[in-house]
Formats: sequence, structure tokens, C-alpha cells
Amino acid sequence: MSDFLGQVRKDFVVQPYRTQVYRAKLMAGELVEGWLHGCRKIIGLDACHVKSYHKAQLLWAVGIDADNGYYPIAYAVVEKECHVESIGDIWPTCEHRFCVRHMYASFKKKFKDDIIRGKLWKAARSTKIEDFQTCMAEIKELNENAWKWLNGISPSQWSKSFFSVHSKCDMTLNNLCEIVNGDREVLEARKVLDLEAKKSGNFVAHWGGQGHYQVSINQTPIAMVNLKGKNCTCRKWNLTGIPCQHAIAAIYSECEDLMKYVDICYHKESQMKCYGDVMYGINMEKYWTKTGRPPLIPPRTVK
Ligand SMILES: [Zn+2]
Repeated sequence: MSDFLGQVRKDFVVQPYRTQVYRAKLMAGELVEGWLHGCRKIIGLDACHVKSYHKAQLLWAVGIDADNGYYPIAYAVVEKECHVESIGDIWPTCEHRFCVRHMYASFKKKFKDDIIRGKLWKAARSTKIEDFQTCMAEIKELNENAWKWLNGISPSQWSKSFFSVHSKCDMTLNNLCEIVNGDREVLEARKVLDLEAKKSGNFVAHWGGQGHYQVSINQTPIAMVNLKGKNCTCRKWNLTGIPCQHAIAAIYSECEDLMKYVDICYHKESQMKCYGDVMYGINMEKYWTKTGRPPLIPPRTVK
């Protein structure tokens, strides 16, 4: 229990009460263990209205495995009027990202210009702070009110350029939205690596000593790579844990194996740990343990 509590505190920079962690572990059991050992250090939260005569909302939490699969952690059905506290209120030190698709939906109701909307996505997908700032300056130039609206939201909640790197997940969309909309922004790790490897042929990596490289194209410096620190100034490698095209140019020039530089969260062992636990089935209702507590009742129905 102490190990579990310690790991949650370390990975998510939150301070849950011992009883909260105990209840989570008790309720989600093996799922929490599997998620903790094999998934990326990020949790997707979402809610939807139950489409039936019941007045309820379905809330759920999912993890993301090595193969960008969705790993269920917990779900709950609540009354429609229920006010759920935000994660930011409960754990203010925990990094909190918005789904940019949701943010965009509110933005486009206020601002109709397609060029500005495109720039919102460009700012969200920028991996470097300088590129984000350039985008924001362009938005300000085009429409000051749109800039004010966006500037009112902390960039750490919606732009890759401000995301921390420990989760090894650079998603800007809530993974559940992607299931619903069938529009996957995230490619599987192997595909990303192959794509980046193809592009790496454009670059020349100049050795600087101790794993440092300057990566150039036609004598123009593009990025700086540190193979020992597993990072590149473009930040793609830092954010995802998958070497970027610049890093691959450096790795190839050292004649090294690419997989050695891919984060452990994508390795087969992590995936095996993720699904190594058992999810026990449910026995016939008549054999269920009697708790002595009132039975659960379905949510109120809509008249
Ligand atoms: Zn790079």
C-alpha cells in the first residue's frame, strides 16, 4: 500500500489521502496495478449523458498503453445535476491538460475566421515555446479578441510546447474523443519511429562529443541532440519518448540500434506488465457476497 501511494505521488505530483488511494485500489483492483506498471503516466477523464430515460451522466477514467490502446481504470454513473469538482481544484499541483477539440468548439462559436482557427491548432501542436509564441503573435495581429480569449488559458493546458515530458504522451485531444470521432491524431509508436527514420535521411549529424550532436540540413543548423539525455531541442523526443528525425540522424551516425533510444514505456515488457494481471469475472448473482447495505438503485428517470 505504501509503495502504491508513493508511486502515485511521484508520477502525478499529487498528495492523495491514504484512504482515497486505498479505496481506488480496492475498487479498480488489478486494473490500477496494470495501469501503474505498464501505461503512460497520464489519465484521460471524460463524461457523457446517458442516452436513455435515465437522468444520468457516465463518468470514466482511462489510461493509454504502449500501443496507444485505451486502458479502462474506472467508471461511475452519477445524477445529471451532480457537480463534480475539477481535478485542478482537488490536486492543484497535478499537470492538467484540456482536450483541444473541446476548447476549439468554444473558440469557433466566438471567432469565425478559418485562418485564426488554423492558427489555434498550429499553436496547440507547436512543440517549441518560440513557435507557440510566433503563432500567438500572428493571432494577435489578426484578431486581438481571439488572442485575449486564448491568452486567458494557461498554455500548459493546451499547447505541446508547455507540456511536461514525464508522461511520454503528447496528446492534445482526449483519447476518448478520438474513439467517438474516429479521428486518431496519434500514430502507433512503431509507425512514428518509421516515419521519423525516413525523414532523418535529410539531415547531417555533426558529433560534438559525449553524445551531443548538431543536426543540420544544407549546412544550416536545425536542432541539437543529446543522445545520453535522450532529448532534442525540437522537444518531440522529450515529449513522446520516441526519437525524432534529428535524433535518428545522430543515432544512425553512431551506428546504434534505434530501439535502445525508444522509451521503456513502448517496449514489449511494459505492455506485458500492463496486461499481466487478472481481471476476475463475476459469479452468478445468487452467490454475490451479502454486504447488508441498501441495494444500488438506478438513476432517476426522465419524465
Ligand atoms: Zn528533434
